[in-house]
Amino acid sequence: MKHVEFTANNGVFDINAFITQCDAATMENDPANEVQAPDPPCPCCCEKNEDTTPQGDAANPVANVPVADGVDPIIYSPLEEVLADLRMGKLILMTDDPHRENEADLVCAGQFATPQNINFMATHARGLICVPMAPEKVDSLGLPMQAQHNTEKHHTAFTVSVDAKEGTTTGISAFERSITTMKLADAKASLDDFVQPGHCFPLRAVEGGVIRRAGHTEGTVDLLRIAGMEPVGVCCEIMKEDGTMARLGELGSFQKQYGLKACSLAQIIEHRQHTETLIVREECVKLPTDFGDFDCYSYHSKVDGKTHLALVHGEIDPEKPILCRVHSECLTGDVFGSRRCDCGSQLHTAMRRVAQEGGIILYLRQEGRGIGLSAKLHAYKLQEQGLDTVDANIQLGFAPDLRDYGVGAQILRDLGVRHLRLLTNNPRKIVGLSGHGLDVVEQLPISIPANEDNKHYLDTKRDRMGHLI
Ligand SMILES: [Zn+2]
Repeated sequence: MKHVEFTANNGVFDINAFITQCDAATMENDPANEVQAPDPPCPCCCEKNEDTTPQGDAANPVANVPVADGVDPIIYSPLEEVLADLRMGKLILMTDDPHRENEADLVCAGQFATPQNINFMATHARGLICVPMAPEKVDSLGLPMQAQHNTEKHHTAFTVSVDAKEGTTTGISAFERSITTMKLADAKASLDDFVQPGHCFPLRAVEGGVIRRAGHTEGTVDLLRIAGMEPVGVCCEIMKEDGTMARLGELGSFQKQYGLKACSLAQIIEHRQHTETLIVREECVKLPTDFGDFDCYSYHSKVDGKTHLALVHGEIDPEKPILCRVHSECLTGDVFGSRRCDCGSQLHTAMRRVAQEGGIILYLRQEGRGIGLSAKLHAYKLQEQGLDTVDANIQLGFAPDLRDYGVGAQILRDLGVRHLRLLTNNPRKIVGLSGHGLDVVEQLPISIPANEDNKHYLDTKRDRMGHLI
């Protein structure tokens, strides 16, 4: 851990030099930088639909996070213990994926947003104190969103800020923020009880919670639901004394000092995966194709209402590794044979191979990595203007975690799959599926010869996303 010291030259404070120094210190301390750059988004990539799953094994979700010398790692508790603390009104630590924000938030239940808890967050965590709320709570209050078109990197969904109408003066003291937050958590509150703008920042969790979006907003709301409490919480990021954000590898001593229980978003996802069924098997029909004969299963996803397909050839024996291709819908590539990407060729190569050897094609309806067809075509347009697939998507402001990574794993498990031989060129996909109770025993690359039209796209996948092409 390194502190940034800044002395003004000739009494002139150069803010840009200061920011550069802070950035350098952050980069140096950021364990994510030592592992790999954050997952870049891609508008047309069938290879990347599960890799937002938190890394590491389930028992120790941050097993792969490097820890600075002499710093204690965070100790994770069983979820039951974390829930018990929340029910008692205590603060807990919630960590996200080291490849996402790589941060921990202090979290407590909204109904226990006491002046003491708010003051502790303001004093010791020192990030922005926010109020994650279930979407139906935001809707029933009628709170408008802060931005009509959210371009924030992680799509953090701020509503307008509020203060309680009664009992507040300026709204900023820990006591007054406590009053406002408890009012937000009050099931009987209405929009009339608040003034806008204010000093409390409600966040709207996405429908489906951590299964759809692995963020602290959803994690807080989901934990409170699991605890049987009102789904309105308080969270605050932890900033170090030097003004940089504390990374996961640096928070063990903070945890120890204040006796905090900790859980990861991965634990919450895993809990929901094990306790909830997110898919419904609807139909199974024969599907003869040009590539071979399949049994076609349709699955309804409760998360997004979409219908996903599994094409199965042969018997599935849970004891034996099954050949499997997990493929994200790419209308232009799969149906029209677009040469802007290699999706169509990959799908058909995989179908041929599965029809010969037996196995599964899991076809997930998440066009363009979940950003949708229209946005994918916008990204194509930007590429025509000179950006590569990663930059085009960044320019459009899409987060890398728009995909339903839990649904595919539940479908495979429903079909009886436990061990996989995965047809993929993307090493990260293996980590993704392994976190969902599926054991990937082998990775089999699909090699598709590049053509003139997709050579640049394939080069980008290899050079910027680590694909084995
Ligand atoms: Zn494609």
